Amino acid sequence: MTSAAGATLTLADGRTLIDGVGSWWVSALGHNHPRVVEALEAQLRTMAHVALAGLTHEPAARLAARLAALAPPGLTRVFYSDNGSTAVEVAIRAAFQWQQQRGDVRRRVFVSFEGAYHGDTIGAVSVGGIDEFHARFGPLLFETARVRGPGGNAQHWEASLAALSDVLQRRGDEIAAVVIEPLVQGAAGMLMHPPELVRRVRELCDSVGALLIADEVFVGFGRTGTLFACEQAGVTPDLMCLSKGLTGGALPFAATLATEAVYDGFRGARDRMFYYGHSYCGNPLGCAAAHGALDAFEQDDVLGAAQARAAELESGLAVLATLPGVSSVRRTGLIGAVQLGHESRYGDDVGWRVYQAALRSGAYLRPLGNVVYFVPALTIPAATLGTLLEIAEGAIREAVG
Ligand code: PMP
Repeated sequence: MTSAAGATLTLADGRTLIDGVGSWWVSALGHNHPRVVEALEAQLRTMAHVALAGLTHEPAARLAARLAALAPPGLTRVFYSDNGSTAVEVAIRAAFQWQQQRGDVRRRVFVSFEGAYHGDTIGAVSVGGIDEFHARFGPLLFETARVRGPGGNAQHWEASLAALSDVLQRRGDEIAAVVIEPLVQGAAGMLMHPPELVRRVRELCDSVGALLIADEVFVGFGRTGTLFACEQAGVTPDLMCLSKGLTGGALPFAATLATEAVYDGFRGARDRMFYYGHSYCGNPLGCAAAHGALDAFEQDDVLGAAQARAAELESGLAVLATLPGVSSVRRTGLIGAVQLGHESRYGDDVGWRVYQAALRSGAYLRPLGNVVYFVPALTIPAATLGTLLEIAEGAIREAVG
């Protein structure tokens, strides 16, 4: 690739590809969004990086206030880091330390879901649930109670809630926190569940004093139709992890939001403080990019446009559902998935054949096993989305036929 703009990648040989998967799902606003570029250019001339320790700076402080104002009510505190995995590491360590400092020293177990993906650092892998990626590192991981994932249909949702309820009843006083990808388990193969499930998980956590960590690294920033997925459930998690779309997809940057109650648990004495930091925590360029992205969300009606595209995606998926080899389709917000075969097996190659065929026709549609999915920029023009869906149709016909 030599350049990228909007939903389009340009290759060295001059060809272009529609970025159907938003470059690892980060490109919420399309590549090089003018508001993000402008904010970055201005910040770069002023201050590229400083330690966020003891001193603070305007982009970081103002961004924290903006995020707190936009987040589900009660998430008032912001901890910056630099990617999705670290946003989750921060949440895990904060939850653990918070419970310990309350005197709940037995609360050291995290509940994770089968199919979960929270990043590639060891803590994030510990709460992961995709064996292809995670099983090899078993001896290095901390203990979790892994429960059945919410999967993709009503039966799975109920079974998952029953499994969670069972673990919480048996081991409630050992549980530090439950970690969930609200509404969509991305890496599991875009498996979707209704807001009601998130609401019930919140209730179950409350019933035993476990914290709820919502990993909105993928689903945050408009991807599911609302700015944050938890909004649809009317749920405020205790900790919420943001990255990817936070900068519109321009820079590695992350924020972990916390409630006042969580924050308070770290006050009062020096040895209660949260010893966690990366060199680039609170990086001013990341903050500036996030300001540019939030300006776009606030001033350009990005969510309204995404809603219109979501309806078009729904119609496109209905066509794809009729193709040979397609077992089902599903959609939440501007995430669409086409199931070829029955599970998202990473080893299977039908998804890769679709990928290759789509590349030849001008689209980047990197699959998750045998799930071909669409996570385009929320700002993708209607015509480009139409072309993407046509290319996908041709590629599926070619790969399956
Ligand atoms: N959480 C979720 C839900 C994700 O989808 C991802 C990345 N795909 C991560 C965490 C990790 O983010 P990063 O790759 O930026 O570390």
